[in-house]
Amino acid sequence: METATASLIDGRQIAATVRQEVKASVDAWTAKGHRAPVLKVVLIGGDPASASYVRGKNRACAEAGIESETMTYDADLSEADLLTLIRDLNGDPNVDGILIQLPLPRHIDEAKVLRAISPAKDVDCFHPENVGNLVTGEPGLKPATPAGIMEMLKRSGIETRGATAVVIGRSNIVGKPMANLLVQKGIDATVTVCHSRTPDLADVCRRADILIAAIGRAGFVTADMVKPGAAVIDVGINRVEDPTRKSGYRLVGDVDFNAVREVAGHITPVPGGVGPMTIAMLLKNTLFAATGSWS
Ligand code: NAD
Repeated sequence: METATASLIDGRQIAATVRQEVKASVDAWTAKGHRAPVLKVVLIGGDPASASYVRGKNRACAEAGIESETMTYDADLSEADLLTLIRDLNGDPNVDGILIQLPLPRHIDEAKVLRAISPAKDVDCFHPENVGNLVTGEPGLKPATPAGIMEMLKRSGIETRGATAVVIGRSNIVGKPMANLLVQKGIDATVTVCHSRTPDLADVCRRADILIAAIGRAGFVTADMVKPGAAVIDVGINRVEDPTRKSGYRLVGDVDFNAVREVAGHITPVPGGVGPMTIAMLLKNTLFAATGSWS
């Protein structure tokens, strides 16, 4: 018997389109005589994963005509010195966006640092003022990963109005803002947020027309948890051992991709799904911080 497999939502392709749109907007902005948007990325300590993420962000900025500078500090940078640096960047009219690469060294209070960033330059959307605007549906900066998922849904023609959406994960970076974006007027999904204490999780997931997994556990979402035809968005990035690879590992999502694609209507791959959208939306946020417009 022939089985239909889900259509693949190609995050790389959608992200490339968004990046081209940002570039066109930046070109139009500078053609009017404005300087290019400027993003400052603060990288503290030598974590190789963080350094690699930052390199990716810098490359994407350069391609879109956004100037980005990485300010690198040793892991022993004091909290007071970091706060002074942020104050200086907040007051610098030649800086549009500020991104503090997480995680921070343990001696630095992350919440205090994120609150110190000017909300207008907070391209990661971690400041409580921006989080508040997100919840109340005010226009403004949006957190990159959930905003990227909204963009994917829209550009893939996935209907949110009247849809039942289930988000697995309640982090401040993904799960909670995701639920808040889906429930806004005009998007109109009916949203349930699941977490590690949710009873009958599989039952809840099976009701979802849109299922978003942001857990951090390889293969957590299995085919029996998915309603036939559902759109399944996999946020997870997990390393699993793979002796056939030179690195000894490969990246997989939170969804058991091969089995779930036989049931779902749409599915995002890992890699090549949500990840590329996150960087594209950072560019969009930097454009907005610089110009006050999304296009
Ligand atoms: P987190 O660790 O902060 O949150 C994980 C959430 O999963 C928690 O809210 C927890 O309640 C829930 N959870 C854990 N075990 C569970 C269980 N057994 N049943 C139900 N819920 C459970 O993680 P995060 O920052 O939200 O990231 C989640 C995943 O997404 C990670 O793999 C991360 O690497 C990835 N991520 C990817 C991107 C991207 O751009 N693609 C961006 C951010 C995070």
